[in-house]
Amino acid sequence: MSEIFDVIVIGSGPAGYPAAIRAGQNKLKVACIDEWKNTDGSFAFGGTCLNAGCIPSKALLESSELFQRAKDEFGIHGIKLGGITLDLGAMQKRRASVVKTMTNGILALFKANGVVGIQGHGRLLPGNQVLVTAPDGSENMLQARNVILASGSTPIRLKSVPHDGKAIIDSWDALELDAVPGRLGVIGAGVIGLELGSVWRRLGSTVTMLEALEQFLPMVDQTIAKEAQRHLKKQGLDIKLGAKVLSAAATSGGVDVVYADAQGEHTLQVDKLVVAVGRRPFTEGLLAEGTGVELDARGFVQVDEHCRTTVPNVWAIGDVVRGPMLAHKGKEEGVMVADLIAGQFGEVNYKVIPSVIYTTPEIAWVGQTEEQVKASGRAYKVGAFPFAASGRARAMEAGAGMAKIVSAKDDDEVLGVHVIGPMAGELIAEAVLAMEYSASTEDIQRTIHAHPTLSEAIHEAALAVDKKMIDGINR
Ligand code: FAD
Ligand code: NAD
Repeated sequence: MSEIFDVIVIGSGPAGYPAAIRAGQNKLKVACIDEWKNTDGSFAFGGTCLNAGCIPSKALLESSELFQRAKDEFGIHGIKLGGITLDLGAMQKRRASVVKTMTNGILALFKANGVVGIQGHGRLLPGNQVLVTAPDGSENMLQARNVILASGSTPIRLKSVPHDGKAIIDSWDALELDAVPGRLGVIGAGVIGLELGSVWRRLGSTVTMLEALEQFLPMVDQTIAKEAQRHLKKQGLDIKLGAKVLSAAATSGGVDVVYADAQGEHTLQVDKLVVAVGRRPFTEGLLAEGTGVELDARGFVQVDEHCRTTVPNVWAIGDVVRGPMLAHKGKEEGVMVADLIAGQFGEVNYKVIPSVIYTTPEIAWVGQTEEQVKASGRAYKVGAFPFAASGRARAMEAGAGMAKIVSAKDDDEVLGVHVIGPMAGELIAEAVLAMEYSASTEDIQRTIHAHPTLSEAIHEAALAVDKKMIDGINR
């Protein structure tokens, strides 16, 4: 007789592990299975986010920004340093140790919440059975009252740009480079391209980005996107829009990339080429014949708004289902499903999911862009406040960017908040909370913000919506 669990979670990324923890908190008997293997051969929980995504990329973004600031900014503060040199080995060691601390943390959380962590491959069989194949090849059949699929996503590969993990690489490879490439090419000027392009540019690479679309960051409010493009260009990121990559081939000296734009065909020679053209849902080996779990046309597991699949008591969350591929979106889905299974209330407000791009300046937003509100036909008001007028931002030598609020003309409801500037990713939390409570701009206007803080920019942007800005000129 196979062991029976209330809940089996397949995948321990930021969608799966919170689902398992909440199930444990809800006193359910829960197991979480993961097959993740790191490049050093070690197994780890935490998925893409902890091992090869959010956490290592932010560790390198932090280190590389400090390096850049030490070289270019400390002098402005009156701090004179001798020759500043890069020890990439030490930087990468720190990145790896941050990751290890976080993934070990999941083990501790599993233990504290009674979650059985299982290393191996999980495959759903009909009748809510899960076949686990351990790393040594041995098999074990588990039975579950509920199964949560949280198998995540994987990079999209381009046929014309064959990945070899050496010269033509993906985001995971690009996080673990042991030398700074002299010339780095990046295909795709999306979130990954911009973050990793920034890391290696700061550390000394000449970075050329080839983006197929004519528009830069189409999902971002275009006032903010234009500001971002200007700053990133000034920093030295060469972002070529409307560039269609035709082929790439590894050579003895690096990679030859052929692309076409409005001017015709070009060849670009780089030492490393990162392909960052999006990610696709990962379901390989996940579903046996006859489970009844359906995938949509793009390969995502089909779910309703409560993450129920087409099969009773089988749920799916995170990158493997529709919606933005963001760790915090997956986490909330995991918590929702674990609460629903326990018979409690659970809901995700898909309209209020923040996004952050960790460039300098940082870009963060929640809700609708001005373009989306305009297209919806709803009458709206806009207010913006430049960080150049923020005392705290000036003191930080970080006066680039702005905070912008779009709200409804009729009832003053905040419809979207868009920030480019210092700590934008932290500042957006106030906007998320405001929108979660359907706040008006007047609510933000009447909320006291400490001085001098960056958060005053959100306050002033709210005041600007009604031309009541104090620290800026109302137009
Ligand atoms: P994943 O994290 O992909 O985890 C899925 C897990 O399931 C994996 O561990 C995999 O081994 C396991 N698995 C799959 N199939 C099976 C199976 N059959 N049996 C056993 N185990 C299985 N998002 C943010 O919100 N903020 C960021 O700053 C951010 N930065 C990123 C930077 C990079 C470079 C990348 C690549 C992504 C980044 N993301 C970021 C996106 C974020 O990583 C994903 O949205 C998130 O990891 C999705 O979580 P998940 O749990 O759905 O899937
Ligand atoms: P993305 O969708 O953000 O960007 C991919 C870019 O590649 C797009 O601009 C697209 O137009 C372009 N592109 C597609 N095909 C192309 C081609 N053949 N030639 C040139 N350009 C092409 O995807 P990503 O940057 O790979 O990131 C994947 C996912 O990971 C995203 O959904 C993102 O949400 C998530 N992520 C989030 C963060 C964060 O929250 N800070 C960081 C990294 C990744």
